[in-house]
Order: sequence, then C-alpha cells, then structure tokens
Amino acid sequence: MNRRMKTVCDFCKTEYSLDAVPKTPVKCAVCGNVWTVQSPVRRNTFLTFVAALCALLAAAVFAIAVIAEHQIKQVQEKPLVAEITEINTVVDEKGENRFVVSGVLHNRSGQIYGAPSLVIVSYDDEDMVLDKQKFLPPATLLDAGANVEFVHVLSVPTDNVKKIGVDLEK
Ligand SMILES: [Zn+2]
Repeated sequence: MNRRMKTVCDFCKTEYSLDAVPKTPVKCAVCGNVWTVQSPVRRNTFLTFVAALCALLAAAVFAIAVIAEHQIKQVQEKPLVAEITEINTVVDEKGENRFVVSGVLHNRSGQIYGAPSLVIVSYDDEDMVLDKQKFLPPATLLDAGANVEFVHVLSVPTDNVKKIGVDLEK
C-alpha cells in the first residue's frame, strides 16, 4: 500500500506531500532548511509496542487473582468473613516490590464478635502456598453487622506470587 504522507518544514512551516519516506534528508524549496523525514511506520510500530506492553501489564494484574470461592462458603457457615478488596504494590527501602493487601472483615451476624487474627496466604501459579502472614485487624471487637477495613504489607518479595487470599485464623 502506497500511502501519501505529509512532512512540514520546521523552519518556515511549509507543508509537503510525499509518496514515500525519503532515505536522505529533504531540503525545503521555500527556505532551504534541511531535515530528515521520520517514517510514520516506525511510529506505528512503537505505538503497537506500547499497546502490547499495556496488555501485558493488565494480564499481570489479572493474574493476581483474589480467591473468593472459599469465602462464599464461609458466609453460610461462619458469622465473620474476610475478603480482599484491593492489591497494590509498593517499593520498599531496599528497592524491592511488596504487595499491599487491602480488605474488609465483615460481621454478618446479629451478635458482637471478637475480631480474629487474619492470615494472608500467597500462592504460586500451581496453587502451592508460598507464604502465610498473620496479623491483627485494627479493631478487636466487631458489632453486629459491622465491617472493619484492614491493610497489610507483605514482607515477602512479589516475584513468584500469582494469587493472594485471606483466611481467618482458626
Ligand atoms: Zn522551509
């Protein structure tokens, strides 16, 4: 396909229409300025590369799937349910990536409950447990129907982690 392309003299702003990208610098017929015409194909290739990179990043974020099925079962059996609402990364003081896990602990019952310790579990791509980290939510008692939000920074590197879940300590 032979698309016509435009190039503009950056000195006098005269526009030229070209059949193809010249291999050598061009000279403006009006002012004599010389410049090299950039290939639009190369620019498109760069944009395609950026789009592909964005898609890759989206896939990486998607791969950090939150395990929800386990919690749905707990709703019927247990008054307290923890769920992850957001997973972000931060760079720590050593320059390593760390996951920041945000979530909510719900009291689905009509009674006051003591808040249990929560366990953040990291899995690899074969669902093998890589790491478990226990911490206390910011409230010790949960009123009937109350929620408490928690944020926990994992102290393990993010390298092989593909899934993150949260459990209540049994
Ligand atoms: Zn010119």
